[in-house]
Amino acid sequence: MTQPGAVTVRVPAKVNVQLAVGPARPDGFHDLANVFLAVGLYDEVTATPADSLRITCSGPDADKVPLDRTNLAARAAELLAARYGLAPDVHLHIAKDIPVAGGMAGGSADGAAALVACDALWGTGASRAELLDICAELGSDVPFSLVGGAALGTGRGEKLSVLEVGGSFHWVFAAADGGLSTPAVYREFDRLTPDAGAPEADPVLLEALRTGDAVALAGALTNDLQAAALSLRPSLASALAVGVEAGALAALVSGSGPTTAFLAQDAASAEKIAAALTESGTCRSARPAVSPAPGATIVSG
Ligand code: ATP
Repeated sequence: MTQPGAVTVRVPAKVNVQLAVGPARPDGFHDLANVFLAVGLYDEVTATPADSLRITCSGPDADKVPLDRTNLAARAAELLAARYGLAPDVHLHIAKDIPVAGGMAGGSADGAAALVACDALWGTGASRAELLDICAELGSDVPFSLVGGAALGTGRGEKLSVLEVGGSFHWVFAAADGGLSTPAVYREFDRLTPDAGAPEADPVLLEALRTGDAVALAGALTNDLQAAALSLRPSLASALAVGVEAGALAALVSGSGPTTAFLAQDAASAEKIAAALTESGTCRSARPAVSPAPGATIVSG
């Protein structure tokens, strides 16, 4: 049961259906054409009044989540409080279902969720534009966790334009043991791709999203970080092969990995692919999920 004065926000994971990466910029970031799709795997963040800022976390990956001020949920609370001249005295509990360090933006999701939860708890009434601003300050993937659905991110991924999605897509996500550090994957990308060109969104992929055409989307999925993730973690290739063998329309590394993503024809096929992956021992766990999913949403409070 929800405690009085508690606000719970549900927030989705994401998969990058296109991740086009340009050369490293002087500031160390990379220009991207990043097509985000929110998927129905969720964390929930509950904010309750407290004497000081405190983070707790539950779920299978809870031991991998930092509970100090480096947690993006804590940073979100601090940024919002600072803007409104408040003390960030809140207990944030993260019920974590999104794989940690899996390339599915779980930390970013918690940042966006904590922001929405604290805004409601404290009655700060920040505008959508203000919330998006704070999200961009928290990290490149955080604005999308607020918005959900599908969006094209440009710049370092944080300048978002919302995309139309004309149907549901069925996915399977296979979590791998151990995470991959996103900066390490970008460094490997730089090493493998000294001549990266300017990133551009693929019109064929955008059209496949708009029409809800899974086969067309499967043909257009790309991830420029995949070679780097596979170079750092060659065993991911086995999971990709098992999913394709089990009928996936396409398989790819999710973002910077090591989670692998499989696009299925329908829900029944997704179940079959998930079962084959689980049985194969090439991943820690495999779960079906449907996209698109809504962004950070208050579910109680
Ligand atoms: P992205 O897809 O945005 O690159 P990711 O899904 O690969 O991110 P996260 O789960 O966001 O990775 O975690 C990356 C690191 O961020 C973790 O190893 C952890 O140290 C830190 N972190 C900070 N806040 C959180 C949080 N709320 N949940 C999980 N990890 C967090």
